[in-house]
Amino acid sequence: LTDRLQNAMSKLRRKGKVTEADVKEMMREIRLALLEADVNFKVVKDFTKRVSDRAVGIEVLESLTPAQQIVKIVDEELTATLGTEMVGINKSPKIPTIIMMSGLQGAGKTTFVGKLAQHLQKTENARPLLIAGDVYRPAAIEQLKVLGQQIDAPVFELGTDVSPVEIVRQGLEQAYANKNDYVFIDTAGRLHIDEHLMGELKDIKELANPDEILLVVDGMTGQDAVTVADSFNEQLDITGVVVTKLDGDSRGGAALSIRAVTGKPIKFVGTGEKLTDIEVFHPDRMSSRILGMGDMLTLIEKAQQDYDEKKAEELATKMKENTFDFNDFIEQLDQVMGMGPIEDLLKMIPGMSNMPGIDQVKVDPKDVERKKAIVYSMTPAERENPDLLNPSRRRRIAAGSGNSVVEVNRMIKQFNESRKMMQQLTKGKMPAGMDQMFG
Ligand code: GDP
Ligand code: MG
Repeated sequence: LTDRLQNAMSKLRRKGKVTEADVKEMMREIRLALLEADVNFKVVKDFTKRVSDRAVGIEVLESLTPAQQIVKIVDEELTATLGTEMVGINKSPKIPTIIMMSGLQGAGKTTFVGKLAQHLQKTENARPLLIAGDVYRPAAIEQLKVLGQQIDAPVFELGTDVSPVEIVRQGLEQAYANKNDYVFIDTAGRLHIDEHLMGELKDIKELANPDEILLVVDGMTGQDAVTVADSFNEQLDITGVVVTKLDGDSRGGAALSIRAVTGKPIKFVGTGEKLTDIEVFHPDRMSSRILGMGDMLTLIEKAQQDYDEKKAEELATKMKENTFDFNDFIEQLDQVMGMGPIEDLLKMIPGMSNMPGIDQVKVDPKDVERKKAIVYSMTPAERENPDLLNPSRRRRIAAGSGNSVVEVNRMIKQFNESRKMMQQLTKGKMPAGMDQMFG
């Protein structure tokens, strides 16, 4: 999904003004990107209509270019399509909370039982019981037992000769007797949806009256996952969806359509084969991931409120020309004070958080005044040309500003540090979206 959409985004991002024709072209790109990513065509149509409706009537905000605003609209609508809010497990008021799995063979049901059970053990000290309801393959029971051993959770099984409904009945009895707070019912899948499978699942549902019926779909199967989700939902009235195999280069498009087509929330995603590869589904994060922008949008929002764009533009030019001096430094300090710590802002830019030197970029409000005092004790020539600052000049500045030489040195070191970082940023290795921050 991301490549095409990202291209469209960055094309737009470079534009100052957006015409109606631009919006049209942008929508075409988005439509293609979504279709390519196996998003259901009805969903795509809906989505692009909502975005263009809002984009055409766009109000020009002072600090945001229309392009940035469209990016924001796309993100908001993507998030809305994905479900707006994160939805947790439906818990039963009385223990046990019963969670029934459903889905095709190989989707990742059994693995997910292990993942979620362990997740609940860690986050709520849960004492889950796992019921082996897949009686068609002895290996399936063995697989669940191995998982149970790994996470130290009991597994209830009666082999392959007893019907799944009977196994679930007895398993639930044991859960009540042992006061387990969660029961997971692992079920069989088929390669394709068939009536026998659905009948069996319906019988289990009727008997167990589960609090959750989670449908597990393989995120790598794209459009098929949507069809599967639709028919399972129709037959079982599922309560939530788990999209697995979102690791690797699988397409996020399935997630987008499943939510829109079934109306049921995506609750978790699987991101690998290990038991810890489970994530609670966050629609807003997924949207950013689809857009490939990290928390760029949060950054835009902050910038929208506080940032003086003209100053930022000047700053960007100076960064590029490497003429960033102490006068700019002071101006930057002032701007940054209104926005919260600069290190937080920088960390929001994709790829920045693990950049070497990021930890040195710190702005402490009390410190700012001292830094300003130091700069004010410099001559205009020194401010414009930081390289002039030899030891004797530093001593003079220290005395003049009422600071120690150590403090002056530290401040100059920090200045050089941020200067260096800015050079790195403007030198080819500009992280995606950084251009947006500085105009
Ligand atoms: P079931 O037939 O629905 O019970 O599926 P399984 O739980 O047995 O999983 C089928 C295969 O998919 C196994 O090889 C799992 O290791 C693998 N699998 C499950 N979830 C994920 C995931 O999130 N990512 C990846 N890469 N593999 C997964
Ligand atoms: Mg299984």
